[in-house]
Amino acid sequence: MEQRYDLVIVGAGPAGMTAAIYGSRAGLNTAMLEMGAPGGKLIKTNEISNWPGIIGTNGANLASDMFAHSTAFGAEYLYGNVTKIEDGEEYKKIICEDGTIYEAKAVIVATGTNERMMNIPGEAENIGRGVSFCAVCDGAFFRNKEVCVIGGGNSALEEANYLTQMVDKVNIIIRRDVFRADEIVQEQVKKNPKINIITKHVPVKVIDDGTRVTGLVIRNVDTNEETTMDTNGIFPYIGLDPSTSFLEGLAVLDERGYMVVDENCETAVKGIYGAGDVVAKKLRQVVTATSDGAIAAQHAFHQIKGI
Ligand code: NDP
Repeated sequence: MEQRYDLVIVGAGPAGMTAAIYGSRAGLNTAMLEMGAPGGKLIKTNEISNWPGIIGTNGANLASDMFAHSTAFGAEYLYGNVTKIEDGEEYKKIICEDGTIYEAKAVIVATGTNERMMNIPGEAENIGRGVSFCAVCDGAFFRNKEVCVIGGGNSALEEANYLTQMVDKVNIIIRRDVFRADEIVQEQVKKNPKINIITKHVPVKVIDDGTRVTGLVIRNVDTNEETTMDTNGIFPYIGLDPSTSFLEGLAVLDERGYMVVDENCETAVKGIYGAGDVVAKKLRQVVTATSDGAIAAQHAFHQIKGI
């Protein structure tokens, strides 16, 4: 027997949680499905310094406050690993891995992005044994050690800065000789005495001793010369891919897999919305995610109520 709602939100990051606040506060019978902990990328982020009204806060604290808010007006929080969404006349079907099916008049997809892997030998088998995609979660395991951060975007540089609170040295490895991160973050990194910047190199192989990571082979992109670095921790921050494989049957994705939406955050399929980092757009931030969540839920409310 399917469970019916006015609005089902897939993903409980900042976009999904904001949509839950707006949907339930407007009186929609709302459920939010999440397959992990609520908070999305927030719970993997140490410092948030661009959330208006709070000069500096911790990602986990902001996530916890948002979660309490998201369920305060009656939205249900449910476990669900969504594998497929089907369009329907009045109701969309949201199908979960365990066979549970939800039906909703509107669906807001706010599933965000997943960290991109380096796809080099030794990487996959050493996740949890030295290769980590979350400095906030795993940084403490490398206290007084030397680690490598791969990438030159905001994520890499912010997390490299964070890691210096516990490790002895962070090597940031970038493939060009310029960073992609915001200037303010670059300045912090350049001033940090514990950070060593290695330009024009790419990672080619993770070395281990059978139980944990012991090194990383990097290649100079100009000379092709390879160097082995001694390191116990490798943090790849080389970009993100949208978490949208369950939408492949619907014509709502661009060529990179991001959701294409209009100014109401609605896709080409009426009643199916995208919000937050999963959407094709330029600025992926907590504020832009929450904005999308509000817009999508408000428009869904208008559509459901025929306003
Ligand atoms: P980005 O795409 O911004 O940066 C990825 C980095 O990894 C680049 O330096 C890129 O190099 C490098 N890279 C990509 N592929 C490879 C590879 N195969 N081998 C080696 N290096 C590689 O990703 P982020 O995760 O940093 O950020 C994603 C989005 O989230 C961005 O829009 C960012 O601004 C935003 N963000 C904002 C934050 C904030 O405002 N506080 C915090 C974190 C993220 P190259 O430059 O040469 O392409």
